[in-house]
Parts: sequence; C-alpha cells; structure tokens
Amino acid sequence: MFDEKQIEVMIDRETLEKRIAELGAEISRDYAGKELYMICVLKGGAMFMTELSKSITVPVLWDFMVLSSYGNDLISSGEVSIKKNLDGSIDGKHVLIVEDIVDTGRTLCFLSEYLMKKGAASVKIATMLDKPSRRVVPVKVDYTGFSIEDEFVVGYGLDYAQRYRNLPYIGYVKM
Ligand code: 5GP
Repeated sequence: MFDEKQIEVMIDRETLEKRIAELGAEISRDYAGKELYMICVLKGGAMFMTELSKSITVPVLWDFMVLSSYGNDLISSGEVSIKKNLDGSIDGKHVLIVEDIVDTGRTLCFLSEYLMKKGAASVKIATMLDKPSRRVVPVKVDYTGFSIEDEFVVGYGLDYAQRYRNLPYIGYVKM
C-alpha cells in the first residue's frame, strides 16, 4: 500500500470528462439509428461506463462482466477467465465493450473473440486509457480516451489493491 500523497495527477477531472463527452458524441454519431449493447468490464470500467453513457444519445442497454484481473500485482498474469458472465443475450446486438485501460491487450483480445462467438452483430471497443507501448497481443481499439506512457495509474475506476477507484482523476504512483 502506498500513501495518497505519492499519487500525482496525470489527467485531471475536467480534461477526462470533456474527452469522455467527445467520445460519447462520436459513438452516438456512429451508432445513429441503432441500439447499443454496452458491456462494462468490472470493476475498473464502472466510472467510465457511467460517465460515457451520459453523453450517448442512441438507445442503450447495459450489461456487466467480471474477468480475471491483476489482483494486487502491478503486472498482468497473462491469463484471462470469466468470473461473471453476461445477464442478457447479445445475439444480433451491436456490442460496445467499455474498458478502463488496455495494457497487454490480452483481456480485450479474449473478450472480443468471445463476444463475436456469442453471435453479436458487431463488437467494438471503447477504452478510457491505452498504453500502446505495453501491447503483447494486437487489438483494434475503436474509441480511446487517452494514450498514456507506461505508468501504473489509479483513479476514475482504476485501483491499486482495490483502493483509489473513487479518485475523480487519473493519477500515477511515484514509487
Ligand atoms: P491487459 O489484459 O490489457 O493486459 O490488462 C487490462 C487490465 O489490466 C485492465 O482492465 C486493468 O484492470 C489492468 N491494468 C493495466 N494497466 C493498469 C494500470 O496502470 N493501473 C491499474 N490500476 N490497472 C491496470
């Protein structure tokens, strides 16, 4: 555990929310005339999901999945498994995966393939943050809030050992 004083602001609240609203407007244009099935990857994607949804003007359905995550480590385990699956059928639906951050790409590579196999009409990805320099598996990200350097970040849904999710900004840890 580290002290909150060790967290430096990387992206402040105003900048984040302005960019998320832009993404919402772009998504609304792209899905005009369609219904969107938004799938949030818990827990980290929760704050982005709610903020993004507020700027989306097409009809929206919400669902939530829990996938294996970092646990308390600062590095990815490399394995992905489903801990909580979808509540509804996505057969014929236009699916938007809503993720906090893309790192190695393993989670989203696994999830987008899984959702296509479940019969989705389309599967796109919206991520609040992207760390392109960390990619191990290629993934096509359709909507990106911010590309960032390889720093471990917390806040706006992102945790360290389940803490700091409530911070209204993205911060990085000064080790
Ligand atoms: P990937 O499968 O792309 O390697 O990992 C994606 C997941 O790793 C994210 O959903 C997030 O849970 C976790 N993750 C990756 N980078 C960070 C980071 O800088 N901070 C936090 N809190 N989680 C991260």
